[in-house]
Amino acid sequence: MLYRVIDRADVPSLVAALMERYEVVAPVRRGEKYVFAAVSDFDEIELDYPSTVASPKKYLMPAIQTLFEFDTAANDVTDYVDEVRLRVLFGVHACDINGIMNLNSVFNDARYPDPYYAAHRAATLIVGVSCMPSEHCFCNLMDSEEARPGYDLFLNAIGDKFLVSIGSVTAANILEAACDVREATDADRIAFRAATRARQEAFNPAIPDIQEIPMLMDAFHEDGFWDELGGRCLSCNACANVCPTCYCFDIRDTLDPGAKTGRRERVWDACTSPQFAMVAGGHNFRSAPAQRVRHRMYHKLNGFLATHDRSLCVGCGRCAVACKVDISPIEVLRFFERKGAEDAE
Ligand code: SF4
Ligand code: SF4
Repeated sequence: MLYRVIDRADVPSLVAALMERYEVVAPVRRGEKYVFAAVSDFDEIELDYPSTVASPKKYLMPAIQTLFEFDTAANDVTDYVDEVRLRVLFGVHACDINGIMNLNSVFNDARYPDPYYAAHRAATLIVGVSCMPSEHCFCNLMDSEEARPGYDLFLNAIGDKFLVSIGSVTAANILEAACDVREATDADRIAFRAATRARQEAFNPAIPDIQEIPMLMDAFHEDGFWDELGGRCLSCNACANVCPTCYCFDIRDTLDPGAKTGRRERVWDACTSPQFAMVAGGHNFRSAPAQRVRHRMYHKLNGFLATHDRSLCVGCGRCAVACKVDISPIEVLRFFERKGAEDAE
């Protein structure tokens, strides 16, 4: 990995240089919260933010994606050419970069790449920034507290400087042209190590570190714990909407007025929706909320791991904030902790 050092005061120049070619999407403040939004000036950006309400996934996987257009009168189908912008996702935390890596595994797989996702991803630069964990963060337990691949630049804060990890030639050239770039010194590397250690020590110790989660998921598949969670779940889908790695979708045909022409669309869906597992004939093979919550947690902490060798949940903690009835992977970790304590008695 190539590292360079820039002053914090140089970041506005970097953003200005990026804005010459790209739409820049970055964390901005909205009242007490933060969201990703397009910005036109560096002063709108909040680089030291705890987390955003929702992840930046909508910029790669829009909530409504037209797949093709049709004309029933002419019996004709037209390929849809998406409007893909050159864009920079600026100030993305490591957990969200890992979340995008997980989406890449699904939608940018070499065997069956999704052309819509792939086009957005190819047009996007990612500039990450280091962070300090909030009380709901557990990316450290999901092996996502660092982004290894998946970014063009990563700004690691070391006091009034950034140690910049460089991930692409395109971004390196923009950085070099816009900023006073220096070689990293031993003092910078030592400062980086101290910052990393400070972050590691700041994670909420009340979120238990559980080993062998997939095995425990299998062992407690029939436990009444899932009924208890299902009894609470409101089926509101807030968890899926804010999650960087929820990618379930539905396909629908939308007709124009006159009902002759229209478009086929891919729209976000969620496995917590009551109708998500409804099939032809009206049978619903996950009709109970407990089955749906359990399915979501299994996919996050077990199923994806079996096929992609890493957990789908990146521990961003957003669902723990969004869920009004306190259902999240953190609850599952606490359940396993209780079970472990019972076994020890
Ligand atoms: S399941 Fe929750 S904590 Fe895990 S990645 Fe999704 S929103 Fe974040
Ligand atoms: S787990 Fe929580 S956020 Fe998700 S659907 Fe149920 S009530 Fe809504």
